[in-house]
Amino acid sequence: MPLKKLVAGNWKMHGLSSDLDEVRAIAAAAGEYPSVDVALCVPAILIERAARAVPGFAIGGQDVHHAEKGAHTGCISALMLLDAGASLTIVGHSERREGQRERDQEVKAKAEAALSVGLNVILCVGESLDVREHGGAVDTVGAQLDGSLPAAFDSKAELAIAYEPIWAIGTGKIPTSAEIAEMHLAIRAKLGERYGADGANARILYGGSVKASNAGEIFGIADVDGALVGGASLKAADFIPIVAAAAAVEG
Ligand code: PEP
Repeated sequence: MPLKKLVAGNWKMHGLSSDLDEVRAIAAAAGEYPSVDVALCVPAILIERAARAVPGFAIGGQDVHHAEKGAHTGCISALMLLDAGASLTIVGHSERREGQRERDQEVKAKAEAALSVGLNVILCVGESLDVREHGGAVDTVGAQLDGSLPAAFDSKAELAIAYEPIWAIGTGKIPTSAEIAEMHLAIRAKLGERYGADGANARILYGGSVKASNAGEIFGIADVDGALVGGASLKAADFIPIVAAAAAVEG
């Protein structure tokens, strides 16, 4: 049976208190599509206000520290995210893997820390343009998963994987449907290897230049269980049509 689709927005370093009205607009409109799970991952400093503004709507972080607490200046623990009202967090986004030199082992520790307190996790993987052009994208993503998948996950919190080719993020370029299908199938197999039957319950999202005009086609691809959306999640007018496209595929 197909998994319920999840459409999650990643606001990255965008959003001030004046944008809480947009959070309200997105949450209200998303309520019209109960067949789709919708979430917004906002800057950490907005989480508490966003969560208070839209009770019951999923607000998430974009990163989390792996340690429970301690001398980690500027970092935020999983329990702090939860305490602020988050119900999920992204880990291992390529902008952090590249910009903050996060390695697979650290991404794994972050995912485990988040899951252990009951935060749902969206764990990102994806290949560079060079790898895509020279072949080996599936092996590269497979190696990322080998290194960064949490050791185990149970029903306390959900694990989702976001396949985000680095070259597709914010560029307007996307892989072909066949390339997305091949990658999602390979990720599904990897999840099965790691978690057995439970691996079938982990949603696999596609991310990278998803917008209203391409969402319907992307959501129709086998093993695409939703999307992680950057730029097009900032405004309800752009984001909600993507949610509607997911709902249309759900039927
Ligand atoms: C992202 O950063 O997770 C992303 C998918 O960005 P965009 O949709 O803007 O390509």
